[in-house]
Amino acid sequence: MPIYEYRCNLCKKEFSLLFLHPEEISRVECKFCKSSSLTKLLSSFCVHQTEESRLKNFDTSKSKGENFYKDSRNIGLWAKKRMKELGVDLGPKMDEIVERGRTGKILDDYKK
Ligand SMILES: [Zn+2]
Repeated sequence: MPIYEYRCNLCKKEFSLLFLHPEEISRVECKFCKSSSLTKLLSSFCVHQTEESRLKNFDTSKSKGENFYKDSRNIGLWAKKRMKELGVDLGPKMDEIVERGRTGKILDDYKK
């Protein structure tokens, strides 16, 4: 289910739309004024960030929006940051666990 972000050329408002069916993409209109003159924005999911800067910007004391964990690259960041704060270095093992979580392979382990 893709999520696209748009800016309305008429009322200048920005909004994101979740498409349940591919055919809905071709008849998208502004949520606010129903204009079909829209500019598709680059999804924030595509913003390039290195893992280092993600870790730095990541604040474990703040709760994340529901979109946060839709970006699989953010999964495991919290655990990693906490480990760093606590001075625990799990080294490659931690990366392995995080990588499994991100790729969904962690689920395979549960199925066994
Ligand atoms: Zn509009």
